[in-house]
Amino acid sequence: MKDVSVTYSSGVDALEHIHLKINDGDFAFVVGASGAGKSTLIRLLLKEIDATSGVITVNGYQLNTLKKKQIPELRRTIGIVFQDFRLISTMTVYENIAFVMRVIDSPVKLIRKRVPYVMSLVGLQDKANAYPNELSGGEMQRVAIARALVNDPKLIIADEPTGNIDPELSYEIVELLRTINMQGTTVLMVTHDHELVKRFGGRIINITGGQVVYDDIMEGTADEI
Ligand code: ADP
Repeated sequence: MKDVSVTYSSGVDALEHIHLKINDGDFAFVVGASGAGKSTLIRLLLKEIDATSGVITVNGYQLNTLKKKQIPELRRTIGIVFQDFRLISTMTVYENIAFVMRVIDSPVKLIRKRVPYVMSLVGLQDKANAYPNELSGGEMQRVAIARALVNDPKLIIADEPTGNIDPELSYEIVELLRTINMQGTTVLMVTHDHELVKRFGGRIINITGGQVVYDDIMEGTADEI
């Protein structure tokens, strides 16, 4: 993002003069109070909204000039994990993950190979036939991460992924995202959880009042990392 600002039609300046470079392979936490501009930042990356000014490039797509019909192509390079999981309750774990491959017309053969693979990556190979209401919060979020990952995106955006999960399981979710990151996927994780950020450390981007007030590497306190 080069000098990116967003002013909503209401007149609110949600982001002001943002300069941000997330490199391929980075893992970055985005922190900031409610109303700071974090969701606006994510919506920009997905081209759900346009910047009022400035230049944004995501995974090689220049968003300012991107045509409407190219937006699905851009979004296929990004996997998203939400706080509230957003699984389809009438589908099993396997079907929830396979569904996002079917949507983009992936060959059946590839689906049969790739879905079991991502299920094992997130440690849910034994839950293939379970429905979301038979899973814990942590397990549901693992399904959501598998779903975000299955089409092999360059970037995963996790928006408060631990917001509905117990602290100990939250730690495991971040560890899982870290593992995925180590295999080459860039991860951007928005969080309110300062304890979690302190434990893991790494690149921390703090947004306050629509501005990046801190963007640096902080050492984590967890000894196992
Ligand atoms: P965060 O995700 O950090 O809570 P947001 O990006 O949602 O922050 O909001 C940043 C600012 O923009 C806030 O002042 C919020 O009230 C305002 N805002 C968010 N969405 C809209 C919108 N669609 N229209 C007008 N103002 C908005």
